[in-house]
Amino acid sequence: MELHDVAIVGSGPAGLTAAIYCARANLKPVVVEGLLAGGQLMNTTEVENFPGFPEGVQGPELMDRFRKQAERFGTIFVPGDVVAADFSSRPFAIRTDERELRARAVIVATGASPRTLGVEGEREYAGRGVSYCATCDGFFFRDREIVVVGGGDSALEEALFLSRYGSRVSVIHRRDGFRASKIMAERALRSPKIEVVWDSVVEGVAGDGRKVTEIRVRNVKTGEISTRPCSGFFVAIGHVPNTAAFRSVLPTDAGGYLEVRGGSSFTSVDGVFAAGDVHDHTYRQAITAAGAGCRAAIDCERWLEAQGG
Ligand code: NAP
Repeated sequence: MELHDVAIVGSGPAGLTAAIYCARANLKPVVVEGLLAGGQLMNTTEVENFPGFPEGVQGPELMDRFRKQAERFGTIFVPGDVVAADFSSRPFAIRTDERELRARAVIVATGASPRTLGVEGEREYAGRGVSYCATCDGFFFRDREIVVVGGGDSALEEALFLSRYGSRVSVIHRRDGFRASKIMAERALRSPKIEVVWDSVVEGVAGDGRKVTEIRVRNVKTGEISTRPCSGFFVAIGHVPNTAAFRSVLPTDAGGYLEVRGGSSFTSVDGVFAAGDVHDHTYRQAITAAGAGCRAAIDCERWLEAQGG
């Protein structure tokens, strides 16, 4: 059985920043990378708001730099996803499909994933017209019909961004009012490129076998079903925290996000810390996740020291 001082679960900006700090504190952290090593930024193109990159940087390149920096100070990486954890006694145990690790402290930084609609054709056409990231894929739909599903800030932000590309952007929302902030709603409603389809849900995505060509929409008030031409189908209905492996061992809120004590990185289990989108549903930025990773590492280092080195 491998025994480590610190196991960090997740390798996005939060996990890798925690690794850099823990490694520089001589804790030789082990990072369990997760299925999408590098996290959500691996699905992004240009990142323009990460400080220190005045010309912007590609998401995967940024994460490669995080990783190299963590490696330089002695971080150990193991592939795979954590499937179970036992925090009932110390050292803690975490298990991937391939191995079991033991650690005196754990930092959970598993992030969040875009919520899927779960309709017919969505999975089949993922990456071939169906997308969860406008900044990643908007470019492919220049002068095409684009549809965005959702009524929150994310959906409208995506719709506004996509209006630079599409011939038309239809926002399909299941109610007759946006959840988004007033300013975003006003901006979207003012855009000549954006059409809002109220009280409607998408029931299916169809294509020609290679790419999306149309969607099927149902009006929830009248029951009327219609089809709508569509090349780019963007789902922006929120995120789901990646906490499945921890639900039975750490408290989560109603949305499944890990609960932390008083805005710190401490969870309710002494020696287990949380960082990044796995507990933050408000800011959800690479830079805030990185900051949270730093805080968790410092909290973890001090906690370990208090336990007797
Ligand atoms: P959100 O606020 O939870 O909104 C999700 C939207 O998707 C809601 O309109 C919801 O409809 C709809 N929805 C959820 N499940 C659905 C389903 N199965 N089918 C159809 N529609 C569904 O999530 P978000 O927009 O990702 O925002 C998350 C947080 O980040 C918010 O606090 C937001 O303010 C913040 N944020 C801020 C900015 C910004 O300030 N620039 C940008 C992005 C996000 P209902 O309204 O009917 O529930």
